[in-house]
Amino acid sequence: MKPVRCAAVDLGATSGRVIVGTWSGAGLELDEVHRFTNGFRPMAGHEYWELPRLWGEVCAGLAKARRRYPRLASVGVDAWAVDHVLVNDRGRPVFPVHAYRDTRTAAASRALARRGIGKVYALTGVPNYPYNTSLQLQETLRACPAVAKAASRCLFIPDYFNFLLSGRMENEFSIASHSQLVDVHGTDWSRGALDFFGIPRSWFAKPALSPRRLGPVTGVPGLRGVLCVLAPGHDTACAFAAMPAAADGSDLYLSSGTWSLLGFEGTAPLLGPGALRARVSNERMGDGRYRPLKSCLGLWLLERIVPEFSSRPQTPAAWRRLIAAAALARAPGRLLDLSDSSLFNPQSMRAAIDRQLRGRGGRPPGDLAAYTRLICASLGRGHADAVGVFERLAGRSFRRILVVGGGSQNRLLCQATADASGLPVSSFSLEGTAVGNIAAQLVALGAVADHASFRSVLCRELKAAEYSPR
Ligand code: ADP
Repeated sequence: MKPVRCAAVDLGATSGRVIVGTWSGAGLELDEVHRFTNGFRPMAGHEYWELPRLWGEVCAGLAKARRRYPRLASVGVDAWAVDHVLVNDRGRPVFPVHAYRDTRTAAASRALARRGIGKVYALTGVPNYPYNTSLQLQETLRACPAVAKAASRCLFIPDYFNFLLSGRMENEFSIASHSQLVDVHGTDWSRGALDFFGIPRSWFAKPALSPRRLGPVTGVPGLRGVLCVLAPGHDTACAFAAMPAAADGSDLYLSSGTWSLLGFEGTAPLLGPGALRARVSNERMGDGRYRPLKSCLGLWLLERIVPEFSSRPQTPAAWRRLIAAAALARAPGRLLDLSDSSLFNPQSMRAAIDRQLRGRGGRPPGDLAAYTRLICASLGRGHADAVGVFERLAGRSFRRILVVGGGSQNRLLCQATADASGLPVSSFSLEGTAVGNIAAQLVALGAVADHASFRSVLCRELKAAEYSPR
């Protein structure tokens, strides 16, 4: 067959990239044509994303992709969840775009924990995270009531970039499912949850299952003839879709990046008091299936501690040196409590870690290598705890943990996960989110019959690094 080329616009909280995948029928080759940093900015006590800058980077990346691959067929967007753009009926933003780490929802989240979360969880299957879209929109409406009139639609970040690309306003299903506003038993919005948080139903279109063709790219000069595809908008849904998983459903998935996201694919949600207590989030794949997930603090800890000692590693070799030094550091006497909210977005990550350790009778590490070792061991323990929760709640055991994302290249973290969980870990050095995004485009284009066929090719092709529990 003729090669088919698709561009994945993959927007992460700390970096974004435009990656072109070339599908030959027997395998997928990736070319990262553009990478840029991302981050939110503080202003007057709040945190905001810089959307115009991000859009400029997306356009620059797509222009490069087109120059390098004149026959580029399509583009799809995935991004981090929960954040959103409130727009009027012409698509103009009517409210600044807050970042999910803004603490504006902290008080409402505490109030929800005291009253109402049981009902909201039964309706939506999503636990109480302070950054949920539900709480963010509730806070926006309370702080600025005029927004209720000014806004006519709420678009999640990938929805908004799809709109900029194609002029079409959709609410893609996987990204909508993280909002704490979608009916856990169906594929539409939950009227009960919208009413509970006081959010207008008219802000949303019925969630659109993915993948699907949206229409031609009209928003970027030089991309004539390229199709915009509605890929799963949530980067975690894309990462999970890319997992070269066994067909019998016995694998657990770990997407290891800014967050550690551990879960599995299924046909039913995990609900009830035990699931709520364990904070299992019943997110969804683009096609409507369930993706019960536990979300733990991830390599954000490392991302934030490194600058307190030196500059961030810029190359795989520099990361390898840091990990090798950490492997030689002394094993930590006490691990971090990852549920401690003071680690969420502290001024100084080092000070926050030291405070926590001292408060629990531990001793702060002496150098960056020792902090790195402490973080890897603590994340490994956190992953193992999540495995235990799923085995208990789903009443089944899993055979392997598959890892993708930046953390798949951290051998200390993969080994710590295998050791703490007692399960073999297979790490795939693949840009999971981009691969899932491109797979969806290939299905929408008709270049691949369905997602299962894509996965079976990927399983044959990919090499894993294997870590046995010690
Ligand atoms: P995001 O959630 O922002 O998409 P990524 O999946 O890109 O995050 O993961 C970023 C993290 O991956 C970094 O914080 C870093 O700890 C880790 N990482 C990236 N590259 C490497 C590497 N070559 N070796 C070890 N760790 C890496």
